[in-house]
Amino acid sequence: MNKSIAIYPGSFDPITLGHLDIIRRASAMFDKVIVVVMTNMAKTCSFNPEERRQMICKSLAGIDNVTVECYDGLLAEYAKMHGARVIIKGLRAMSDFEYEFQMALTNKKLNPDVETLFLTTSPQYMYLSSSMVKQIAQLHGDISDFVPAAIHSDILNRLTQK
Ligand code: ADP
Repeated sequence: MNKSIAIYPGSFDPITLGHLDIIRRASAMFDKVIVVVMTNMAKTCSFNPEERRQMICKSLAGIDNVTVECYDGLLAEYAKMHGARVIIKGLRAMSDFEYEFQMALTNKKLNPDVETLFLTTSPQYMYLSSSMVKQIAQLHGDISDFVPAAIHSDILNRLTQK
């Protein structure tokens, strides 16, 4: 069966165990998953796109069919360029839904060949967000249950700087 290509877009500022859980599950469903580090003009990021890309790469040990790229254009175009028919999104709570629903319909309008597939968060990551991880790190809290071990020091070095 040709399971084909899916793309998983987000800010990943930084990647969390919640994101990684979605990546693992998507990687089992598709031949190839491309994680796309997007530039979101509505968000102020702590890490630049290349730093975010590298932190994701470091977190992917043991997952072979996933690549990571940065992109600052339209996701619908990116999907077309890479022959991807599926956009993966993780859903934490109802609060994610309205925005994601709007994005899914917009992407469908821009690229009718693309389907958005929502994966429900695993319950242990339901409350987890990049912004929460950053707040904890800034206050010198323990982030080890929230982010991949390979990137702990990258996050602490950046966010606990004076
Ligand atoms: P955030 O909303 O935390 O800034 P991103 O923009 O990086 O995250 O999110 C990329 C994708 O990952 C989105 O589809 C988002 O809903 C999903 N996601 C984020 N955190 C989780 C989590 N803890 N569990 C499942 N999906 C998540």
